[in-house]
Amino acid sequence: MLWPHAGIRRPRNVELEERLAAARRDTPESEAWLRLLEAALNESEEGGVWDAAVPEPAAERPVKAPLLWSARITVDGRAARRWVRRLLTLALPAQASKIDGIALLEAALRHDDARVEALAQAGGADPSVVRIAGQMAVTPLLRACARGLARELPSTWWEGYCPLCGVWPAVAEYTGLERKRQLRCGRCGVGWAIPLLRCVYCDETDHDHLGYLTPEAGEQTRKVEVCNSCKGYLKAVTTVRALPPWAILVDDLTTVPLDIAALERGYHRPPRPGYPLESSIAERGPVGGWWRLWRFWRMVEGVTKQPPPTSTNLQNLHQPPQVGA
Ligand SMILES: [Zn+2]
Ligand SMILES: [Zn+2]
Repeated sequence: MLWPHAGIRRPRNVELEERLAAARRDTPESEAWLRLLEAALNESEEGGVWDAAVPEPAAERPVKAPLLWSARITVDGRAARRWVRRLLTLALPAQASKIDGIALLEAALRHDDARVEALAQAGGADPSVVRIAGQMAVTPLLRACARGLARELPSTWWEGYCPLCGVWPAVAEYTGLERKRQLRCGRCGVGWAIPLLRCVYCDETDHDHLGYLTPEAGEQTRKVEVCNSCKGYLKAVTTVRALPPWAILVDDLTTVPLDIAALERGYHRPPRPGYPLESSIAERGPVGGWWRLWRFWRMVEGVTKQPPPTSTNLQNLHQPPQVGA
């Protein structure tokens, strides 16, 4: 069963605010990331601009490809750039204006680390910070896609990677009295059930090769699933109900000690996504609209010798201003 509807939009998400406040108390060293996360989650709750960018899934999609594979996404250029600039300003105040917001969104969506690094270098910024900021920046778009494409998601999904955006799950959830195993994506919030206990990365099902790491004391609801065939690990949590999408990211950030424990024992998470997306992000704005209108007018009137109106011309005619860079 899939969980695309879990993101309920409310004017003010009190539960989220309380959870973030608790995370700040418990892990003050994470403050820099919590600020980015808070901004990304609040932007996700806004919806609006991002809901309008949800694409049609590609028609010729391979059967194992996630829904957003090869999707052509068009965003409101001005709003998207403003959002990425705002987020980057939180992380890198001095370099925020030097990094192309749309290019960063696309690179983050595709998990294209080489491109993220090139963008960071061009802006004179720390690539590891830009990589995390990029993932936070693309969260509102992916959450909107999870809402808008909920009906298009397959009713069953046997792969270990996300059926919407192709990355490996952030957590395995064991929910309800039956402790059903659900895999949850940390980027888009989608969840999918995999009834068999099997490694999400290499499909190993032999119990002799699968195991758990459990915290030594205290936390009874936490463990780490490990596979001794591929040395992969995945954090797991027992819950009464499926976590809302925003809680997956908060949870991921506040359970870093589990990641460290797994890494220290030689386990890892694959650096690349489960299925490369190959999607693109383009921008539209009022200037594009005026350009199309001009082309139409030229066709109708047969005006062939005049140059197209520039944005300056349009402003002189008291028309809406152009999109900012
Ligand atoms: Zn996803
Ligand atoms: Zn494995």
